[in-house]
This record gives sequence, C-alpha cells and structure tokens, in this order.
Amino acid sequence: MIIQVVTLFPEMFEGVWGSSILKRARRDGRLDVRTVPLRPFGVGPHHQTDDYPFGGGVGMLMRTDVVVPAVEWAMLHAAHDARVVFTSPQGRLFTQRVAEVFSQHPHLIIVAGHYEGVDERARVLLEADEVSIGDFVLTGGELAAMVMVDAIARLLPGVLGAAEGAADDSFSREHGWLEGPQYTRPPEYRGLKVPGVLLGGDHEAVRHYREEMARLWTRERRPDLLEDQE
Ligand code: SAH
Repeated sequence: MIIQVVTLFPEMFEGVWGSSILKRARRDGRLDVRTVPLRPFGVGPHHQTDDYPFGGGVGMLMRTDVVVPAVEWAMLHAAHDARVVFTSPQGRLFTQRVAEVFSQHPHLIIVAGHYEGVDERARVLLEADEVSIGDFVLTGGELAAMVMVDAIARLLPGVLGAAEGAADDSFSREHGWLEGPQYTRPPEYRGLKVPGVLLGGDHEAVRHYREEMARLWTRERRPDLLEDQE
C-alpha cells in the first residue's frame, strides 16, 4: 500500500516512520509511506502556502492553489486511483472500521491541514473525504495523519507478526468489543496474582474467560459499543 502525507512539516514524521513496527513494514516493502512537502508548491518568490481568510477573522488558511497541485503531483506516483483524505475536526470520526476500509485501498493521500485549515475549494476540487481523529482541535493535521497511518499499517497483511495478531484487539472485526485485561510474568507481584485460569493450560477455559472479560469491560467502560448487539 502507498500512503502519501501532504504536509508543511515533513520533519515531524521522521521519528514515527523510522521506528518500531512502521519501520519494519517499510523495510519489508509492505507499506510505502512518505511525505509530500507542500512548501515547493507555494506561490510567489517566497513560496507562500497560506493567506488571510476572505471576510476577515483571525488566523491563516492554506491556499487551494497550493494544496490542489501538491495532491495532483502526489497522485502521479501510482497507477491506481488515489483516495484523498483531509484531516479536519469537521470530518467524520476515524474509527477502526474506517481504518479497515482505508487499509483496503492501494493508494491513500492524506492532507495535513495547518493554521486555521484549508480553503474549502481544495476539498471540493479533490473530492476529498474529511476525517477527524476526535472531538478536539489540534494545531495541525500531522499528528492526525500519523495516528491514521499507524492504525492502517497494522491491518496490512504481514505487518504484525503472528505473535502480534490484531484479531483479538479492541474494536476488531469479529465482535467490536474492548479487549479484556492481560498479564505476563511474574505470576504474582506485590500480592497481586494472575487469574488462575490463565496459568492452567486449558485453552477452552482461557478462551471463555477472555470472552467474558471482554464483554464485562466493554459493558463497564464503553456500553455504547454493545448497544447495537444487545
Ligand atoms: N478552524 C478549524 C480548526 C483548524 S485546526 C475548525 O475550527 O474546525 C488546524 C488543522 O489541524 C486542521 O486543518 C486539521 O488538518 C488539523 N486538525 C485539528 N484537529 C483535528 C482533529 N480532531 N482531527 C483531525 N485533524 C485535525
């Protein structure tokens, strides 16, 4: 899968692309993720990328005649039709389901807004999907893009090893519940013991225990996830 992130601040991504599971996924050729710097597409001698909003008001907006050519340039990098996604607090919520849908696309272009956002005409011209990572406002879309890339990458075939499988994770395709509590060594620490069933080696009992705990935790912490099912 190819993911390009159009951004004014490409240097923000280096640590994220260059560490841990994303680093391995890139090295193994499972994920081709890269930034597209916006600055070279800026207009005029100073490569201006933003401007004052028409009608007044505080802050600056990213210019449509900068963002659109940058995305069109990014589109040339693959033969497939790219899906264009704008990060925005006004977008629909990014959930595990959305990550699953995006992970099926061969080519995604994510636009990280900055300042007050992006001229509305860029979204219209690029027929972009608008996605929010939650009901709060960031200073820019870079962190949102990183969150999305990370969640998408771990769903791509082979990115997680068998030992890191995503099937039991919270919100997973199977039941959409939270994952319950987990334990590793030592079996007892400061008087707190690992539940005996997990030490007993009875796989069916372990499966049953985990399912019950997942249901319990979901009911306690996120009853909204069960609403559709009960
Ligand atoms: N004026 C906008 C906020 C702009 S925040 C408003 O009131 O809705 C600047 C940029 O940060 C946005 O263009 C977007 O790219 C990014 N951003 C901020 N909050 C975000 C969120 N919750 N999800 C995704 N992107 C976000």
